[in-house]
Amino acid sequence: MYPLQLFDAASSTYTSIVFDEATRDAAIIDPVDQQVERDLALLSQYGLKLRWTVETHTHADHITSASLLAEHTGAQTAAPQACGISTAALQIVGSDLLRFGRETLLALQTPGHTAGSMSFVWRNHVFTGDTPLINGCGRTDFQSGSAEALYHSLTEVLLKLPDETTVWPGHDYQGRTHSTIGIERACNVRVAGRTLEDFIAVMGNLNLPKPKCEFR
Ligand code: FE
Repeated sequence: MYPLQLFDAASSTYTSIVFDEATRDAAIIDPVDQQVERDLALLSQYGLKLRWTVETHTHADHITSASLLAEHTGAQTAAPQACGISTAALQIVGSDLLRFGRETLLALQTPGHTAGSMSFVWRNHVFTGDTPLINGCGRTDFQSGSAEALYHSLTEVLLKLPDETTVWPGHDYQGRTHSTIGIERACNVRVAGRTLEDFIAVMGNLNLPKPKCEFR
C-alpha cells in the first residue's frame, strides 16, 4: 500500500492521504488551504471518509486547511501538542496512535525544525514534515528550531527505522516525492557521517533568507 501524494506548487508542499482499503476511513497529513477543493474532490472520487486531519508542525510557508476539511467531512483535527495549535481537537503526544478503520498512524516526537515537530509512521512508510527532507533537512534558525534537537531526532529516532521504510517529506524543490530511510542514512548530505558538532556548524552557516521558503 502506498499513500496518495499530492503537490501544491505554490508552496512546494506535499499533502499525503492514507486510508483503509476495506472501510475507506482516511487520514490526511499536512493539508494546504489553497488545495481544499482538490482534496475534497479526491476524497469523494475515491469514496473516502476522512477521519483525521494531521499536522506535522506549524507551517511557516502555508496555511493548513484542517478546519475547512473538518467542517466539510466531520474529520477530527490533530496537531502536535508542543506546537500550541489550540484549535486542534486532538493534541498529539509521542507514541499516540491515530486510528482510521483498521489502520493506524503512530506519532513520533521529532523536534528540531520546530520544537513541536512530529513524524508519523504508517505501515512501512514515514511522513516526516520538514525533519528530514530528501538529501536535506528543514531549517532550524527560526520558529523555535534547534539544530541539536534535529540531529537527535534524525540520528536517534528516524534513521533508526528499518532501511526499507519509505520517507515522504513535506516539501521538495526538485520534484522528488520520496526516499527511504536506508538511502537517507547513507547519503543525506546534512547528516550522513556527521557528528553533532559538524551538523550544528552546517546548520548555523546556511544563511537562509527569512521565511517564505523554509529550506534550500
Ligand atoms: Fe516547516
